[in-house]
Amino acid sequence: MSSLVLHDPAKVLESVARATRNGFVAYNNDSKITYFSDRLEEITGFVEAELLGKNFNEVFGFKEVPSFAKTFDVCSRPVVLYTRDGKTINLETRTAQIIEGESEEVRGHLVFFFIEDYRKDLDKAQSEFISTVSHELRTPITSIKGFASTLLQHNALDEEKRKKYIKIIKDQAERLSRLVEDLLAVSRLESKKLQLTIHPVKIKAIIENIALIIESKYKGSHRIEISATDVVPDVWVDSDRLEQILTNLIDNAVKYSPGKDLVEIKIRPSQYEGKEMLRVNVIDYGIGIVQEDIRKVFTKFGRLDSPLTRKTEGTGLGLYISASLAKIMSGDLQVKSEGGKTTFSLYLPIESHEGGVVWWD
Ligand code: ADP
Repeated sequence: MSSLVLHDPAKVLESVARATRNGFVAYNNDSKITYFSDRLEEITGFVEAELLGKNFNEVFGFKEVPSFAKTFDVCSRPVVLYTRDGKTINLETRTAQIIEGESEEVRGHLVFFFIEDYRKDLDKAQSEFISTVSHELRTPITSIKGFASTLLQHNALDEEKRKKYIKIIKDQAERLSRLVEDLLAVSRLESKKLQLTIHPVKIKAIIENIALIIESKYKGSHRIEISATDVVPDVWVDSDRLEQILTNLIDNAVKYSPGKDLVEIKIRPSQYEGKEMLRVNVIDYGIGIVQEDIRKVFTKFGRLDSPLTRKTEGTGLGLYISASLAKIMSGDLQVKSEGGKTTFSLYLPIESHEGGVVWWD
């Protein structure tokens, strides 16, 4: 634990804050914020004027408030910082006591946030994202350019070949358009510009409809069996987003189980994190997901490396979008894969925001 001896803490802090690209917060013995540096304003979106006098722990949502505020032997730890628009940022911090020069009394604390490291991580993540997107865009563009040139150069192509090449161009253009749609969805999610209309939804009918569409898309290669409890409570969600999630899960179940002919969907009420929710299990008996990859499937462009994935069409954004949408609608998405059986469990709220429970008639 380091200690600072300061006669005019505010002045010293201000000059240190300007000289470094990291950030500081100072708070007094009542945990009231007394200083908030420019750098923190930049990354959190809060401004000092609105934070002065507020409780430090409440503003920053420190998880272990009592030990952080009161135990002085802990001086260095990673913390989760909440920004004005509700995002979380993980930062390393160091804490120092602010000591009154002559009396040596502890006047408060100074928390130093390591923003430099965070910026580097952010830059790295951004450049990785741009490089992945460029790669994903380049593949269909190359193919469209190649086949269009062939069509232009070879007038004497037979009808069958001509049609085949035009179909490839059309498929690749559709792939591009799906990728752009998914990227826009990711951007809306991340910038929190997504509008949801939450209302009670009868989920079984929606699932039956999607199952028919997917069965026909894959020309009946799979039977999609739906089972539900006698009473299925309405779910309180945005129906378009719900369809998007279910389509992604059911489509994946068929896509990643070639050679199998069954996908099961089980709908039932279930306790989840202490709440009564509706659980929709989408089960397939396909290629499965090994334990080490379980978390990866929910990340952006988290396509798993397998011969089948390489052959199948996909952006690797579907599950990232689905899981984010489920969370935004107060639900969750989990996956388990063992013994040749992969189960995606979608949990959805069955209570309205007013607290009422809505059931089927
Ligand atoms: P994609 O567009 O690639 O299907 P998703 O985000 O929907 O993207 O899925 C991410 C990755 O998770 C897939 O590329 C695949 O490797 C894996 N995956 C998803 N669903 C399944 C499943 N039912 N069985 C096995 N692997 C799956």
